[in-house]
Amino acid sequence: MVVKIDHIAIAVQNLDEAIKVYKEALGLELAGEEEVPEQGVRVAFLPIGDTRLELLEPLSSESPVAKFLEKRGEGIHHICLEVEDLEKTLAELANKGVKLIDEKPRLGAHGRKMAFVHPKSLHGVLLELYQKEEEDD
Ligand code: ZN
Repeated sequence: MVVKIDHIAIAVQNLDEAIKVYKEALGLELAGEEEVPEQGVRVAFLPIGDTRLELLEPLSSESPVAKFLEKRGEGIHHICLEVEDLEKTLAELANKGVKLIDEKPRLGAHGRKMAFVHPKSLHGVLLELYQKEEEDD
């Protein structure tokens, strides 16, 4: 069902500052930046092997990431797992009584289909699930 860890997302106050630190301190490369209005964030991608870090900066105070920063401060926001079949995985999780934020897939960064699982069911970790599309690399 689960293929690998696709990315680990970190909520930051200032994306440009965070990119600079991760590049200079860890020698990571910036692979791209993107606005995802559906989720109210600007995202930067820093690949590590076949996974990556995603730095998230809220686009406005209404963004869920802004609320996260207010409540918990900067830090790990979510972990994303690649799954073979997103719809099937969501149905199976719902069957097992796992609390879902998205019962149906929605669009995330790169226009990819993804869904969030509620942290209450996973001991405090917000989990993103995504299914690799044919046209992804
Ligand atoms: Zn993510």
